Amino acid sequence: VTASGGMEELSGAQLIAEALRAQNVEYMFGVVGIPITEVAVAAQAAGIKYIGMRNEQAACYAASAIGYLTGRPGVCLVVSGPGFLHTLGGMANATVNCWPLIVIGGSSDRNQETMGAFQEFPQVEAARLYNKLSVRPSSLEVIPAVIEKAVRTSIYGRPGSCYIDIPGDFVNLQVNKSSVKYVECCPPPPISTAEHSAVSEAASIIAHAKQPLLIIGKGASYSRAENNIRKFVDLSGLPFLPTPMAKGVVPDNHPNCVAAARSMALLHADVIILLGARLNWILHFGLPPRFRQDVKVIQIDICAEEMGNNVRPAAMLLGDINAITKQVIDLEVYTFLFPLYSLHVSVLHLNLNSFIFKDLALQKSLPMNYYTVFHHIRELIPKDCILVSEGANTMDIGRTMLPNYHPRQRLDAGTFGTMGVGLGFAIAAALVAKDRTPEKRVICIEGDSAFGFSGMEVETICRYNLPILIIVVNNNGIYTGLDAGSWKEMLQYGDPVTSVPPVSLLPNARYEEIMSAFGGKGYFVNTPEELQNAVKASLADKRAPSLINVMIDPQSERKKQEFPWLTRSNL
Ligand code: ADP
Ligand code: MG
Repeated sequence: VTASGGMEELSGAQLIAEALRAQNVEYMFGVVGIPITEVAVAAQAAGIKYIGMRNEQAACYAASAIGYLTGRPGVCLVVSGPGFLHTLGGMANATVNCWPLIVIGGSSDRNQETMGAFQEFPQVEAARLYNKLSVRPSSLEVIPAVIEKAVRTSIYGRPGSCYIDIPGDFVNLQVNKSSVKYVECCPPPPISTAEHSAVSEAASIIAHAKQPLLIIGKGASYSRAENNIRKFVDLSGLPFLPTPMAKGVVPDNHPNCVAAARSMALLHADVIILLGARLNWILHFGLPPRFRQDVKVIQIDICAEEMGNNVRPAAMLLGDINAITKQVIDLEVYTFLFPLYSLHVSVLHLNLNSFIFKDLALQKSLPMNYYTVFHHIRELIPKDCILVSEGANTMDIGRTMLPNYHPRQRLDAGTFGTMGVGLGFAIAAALVAKDRTPEKRVICIEGDSAFGFSGMEVETICRYNLPILIIVVNNNGIYTGLDAGSWKEMLQYGDPVTSVPPVSLLPNARYEEIMSAFGGKGYFVNTPEELQNAVKASLADKRAPSLINVMIDPQSERKKQEFPWLTRSNL
């Protein structure tokens, strides 16, 4: 019996937690403080897994990766003002990547608005630019409806981030359970197929193509279309190219994967079938010199507004990728085209030679270069591991040298090119793996600079005992660095502030000691043998987090590209 005479009462914090749980929210990441500590406590009590992070930005990246990996949004819970502001990067990154996310920000009490309250900031207005929905519930009673709407908005249509602002005084306010408007769990998004005439139009374009190319984007991996896309590739014999995070939708070692001849494949295609990828910078806008002027694009996307960006498509198939791929398969017009395509595929494969980095990879001299490092890592890591990667050269070279065999097992800086996402993504991936596929290991390969953005999340990893293997490919800097000798010499010329190159970081920094400081295993390696031993030891220990700090040549750069316009970092 409660004070209100038998009616069951709930605090605002409990109401938020129960409403989230009712929408099947499984994971919440945050940094507690005034006024949202109680919300985190209530969430945990309601059965939501709460992961306390060290910085709101990393918490937000982690929550967004949950959305991509599970199709249901993760929640990022933060305090008002600065805590909220630290999530802007995460919200923008999620929305730009088309990933669902819910951010819940505490804010100042309603009766102190505009008075200069503690951490007061126009949060709802500020969040609007980064989110599909930015809302402050007007009463406790409507919170479940607002939370359902945010979850629904985050996953329906083109996925993205949603923001809910919670006035501080709501958290401990009591409400009668009977006056609350409860809303049932929102179902997964409705599936729509493309118009029939558009599908037959596309089929006829494909049937007349001489050098067609399928481009698989992360929309395809998000929509879990792997089985149908695999079937389509096998039936049609079409060559395909995955974008970075679509690697593994069809395994990288599939004979029709022409990633190794990427530039050639793009340049020669007369018809492009674009499955859940945007013609943005990652795909060179679909324009010359990387594409033919007269290339015909068959665009498949869930977002009508995306159709026609940069290139007017020859056919527009609006709807869900998985459903549309099945529609296309069901037309059954492809099998006779198989021999034609396979000839085209083998011509593309002839270009593989230009791609093989063997010389660099097998170089014996020390310090190692990027290719040697990835060569030795590739030999040892399990085929089903989840790869998280960021850093300029580390990410780019790692992408070409480390294959993916399963969908949604590569997470990187993405469409927004965000550095600092790695540890948050790795934590999210490790939690999802632990709950769903405990045999899968998370391997997070970071440049030394990228690692620095959220290095303190190593404490989070150790606190929750997540068996993540972090490999820091350390070149003493951003793009390039100085070796210890040159560093010492340079310091003789005066004040470091005026002489240290902006790209430089401290030479031979012992990043592995951050891991050992929190009880994980740290390895400092200089040679291929040490690297192999450290990777083996880390993988053998199925429970402990570890960090391998791999020293490479501070001047090690990527292989020279064939064409001058290939030198941009997106290649
Ligand atoms: P990439 O970075 O791999 O090139 P993008 O993020 O640019 O991929 O593009 C992904 C595209 O997929 C977006 O335009 C998005 O609207 C679309 N998309 C997301 N989910 C679906 C879905 N279920 N069905 C169809 N398209 C989708
Ligand atoms: Mg570096």
